[in-house]
Amino acid sequence: MLYRITQGNYTIQERKASVEKSIDELCSVIKENPDRFIGFGCVPLNLSKEETKKWIHNNIVANGLKGIGEFMPGSEKQMEALETIFEVIVDIPNCPIWVHTFNPVTIKGIQILMDLCIKFPSVPVIFGHCGGSNWMDIIKFAKVHSNVYVDLSATFTSLTPKFAMLEIPEKCLFSSDAPFGEPKLYRQMIEALSPSAEVTSMVLGDNIGRLLKL
Ligand SMILES: [Zn+2]
Repeated sequence: MLYRITQGNYTIQERKASVEKSIDELCSVIKENPDRFIGFGCVPLNLSKEETKKWIHNNIVANGLKGIGEFMPGSEKQMEALETIFEVIVDIPNCPIWVHTFNPVTIKGIQILMDLCIKFPSVPVIFGHCGGSNWMDIIKFAKVHSNVYVDLSATFTSLTPKFAMLEIPEKCLFSSDAPFGEPKLYRQMIEALSPSAEVTSMVLGDNIGRLLKL
């Protein structure tokens, strides 16, 4: 197995097949419930820029998916590999990328993602779980970079959604992280911690609607 992994090529094929399968499953659920769901799809890392472009057009754009992710970069090297995806989606209008930023992603990994946000200011980037224990850095960063959004599922502490909704209400997106999180409880958390009914409505749908131009 280790030998196969170190060969690289075969692993990329396996990875492509597995991501394709998950996109097929996702799209069949969306097709059955078009009024209920829209989707984001994953993209295998470490393809060439041309291959990534082809992949995104054939699997994301052609399927009507609205964004890329959620990525879970297991290392700083994998976070750096996201740059190829940014290079492709910068040419696709309004195609956000969603990246998991809680453990095992480190502050160094988050810094790499922040640099990509600065390098590609027209690409909307969703920091999944609002940076985990680095949530204060993320909120500060999102305040001054218009392309940065946060999702409020599985955060480090309930102070995270509370402060995020106060400081960056137009950047906060409701999320449940199901099956790890219970959707009803996360909705109740937003309703309980939000500073106003207006912000609640922004977080529970208006913000993502505006971001995806629904
Ligand atoms: Zn995640």
